[in-house]
Amino acid sequence: MDESKAKQPLLGEMLHLRGNSLQKGEPVALPLTQSSMFHLPGSPEGFPNYGRVNNPTWEHLEHVLGHLEGAPCLAFPSGMAAISAALFATVRAGQRILIPSDGYYVTRLLAERFLANLGVTVEQRPTVTFEEGGFDRFDIVFVESPSNPGLDMIDLRAVAQEVRATGGITIADNTTLTPLGQRPLDLGIDMVVASDTKAMGGHSDLLMGHVASRNPDLMAAVEEWRKVSGAIPGPHEAWLLHRGLETLDVRFERMCNSAGVLAARLVEHPAVQEIRYPGLPGDPSHELAKAQTLKFGFLLSITLDSEERAERFINSCPLIRPATSLGGVHSSAERRARWGDDVDPGFVRLSVGCEPVEELWQAIETSLDGLT
Ligand SMILES: *Cc1c(COP(=O)(O)O)cnc(C)c1O
Repeated sequence: MDESKAKQPLLGEMLHLRGNSLQKGEPVALPLTQSSMFHLPGSPEGFPNYGRVNNPTWEHLEHVLGHLEGAPCLAFPSGMAAISAALFATVRAGQRILIPSDGYYVTRLLAERFLANLGVTVEQRPTVTFEEGGFDRFDIVFVESPSNPGLDMIDLRAVAQEVRATGGITIADNTTLTPLGQRPLDLGIDMVVASDTKAMGGHSDLLMGHVASRNPDLMAAVEEWRKVSGAIPGPHEAWLLHRGLETLDVRFERMCNSAGVLAARLVEHPAVQEIRYPGLPGDPSHELAKAQTLKFGFLLSITLDSEERAERFINSCPLIRPATSLGGVHSSAERRARWGDDVDPGFVRLSVGCEPVEELWQAIETSLDGLT
């Protein structure tokens, strides 16, 4: 892929962000500051003051996230807390927002159940036809590309330009590709939101999220929302996420490469009726993925010929955890129809983990062969 189309963060520099400002004798690893109070005689200006407002552990995490995103970042206790902050800090009563009908379903619930009650008009469009009908009636356009779980993509640069031209704001959920796989801010998107519960943390032991933007007014609003709503990350989760980010590069590279290898082999397997992976030539997302992503991702989907076979595959493969969520070091899979996603009952979303690829392929192939 054309790596020149986006400015990649320097990952060596990221690993030494803290080290290069240390005094002699200070710990190299990030200390976990678990405190609500800070010693604060006299003027509080310029010092941590209270645990809902600031915490040195999340501030360092945000420094590293900011390095990855190439933009100021604010950390949140989950992906949904980040998405809620981005929406509640920007949208006003009487405004119109557009969201994908096939993206992460809790974002739809948030809009339908809560924003609509506050006098916000919520419209939905499928990702594949998202650009049809234009954007001039919308104040906020929320996109998810690739969509989870369908893996459809949209032209982020084109959408960002069109929405900006009519005075609207774009927000992109970049969870599945991470800033190492896709850089929506460089494509003109105003705000990125992400669940760091997934590949960013990577070990399935925390929930976190973040908001990134180069627009200082938007970030000030999001920061105020966090302080006032109290949707703040716990210091321990921030510390765990920081530790996960130190290996994001190696994990993500392994996961994406393995997904590419598995996708190419799954295409040939007789039990697989359909497969979606943006890296496969011929996949409906392939051309857009080549043009705007740096990696094809670690998610793929296969459709087996029945719900029963899909369940048997997921539950019998010793190197696949039957679990919801994605992006962890352990490969995992689930039938998304069990949550009501509009997909075939035999549709399996597979999140490829860090297992050595040949060992993983053998386990998958054996389980698929055993279905007949
Ligand atoms: C998981 C996920 C979210 C929500 O994140 P949480 O950390 O579970 O709150 C949002 N968007 C996408 C694409 C996700 O996969």
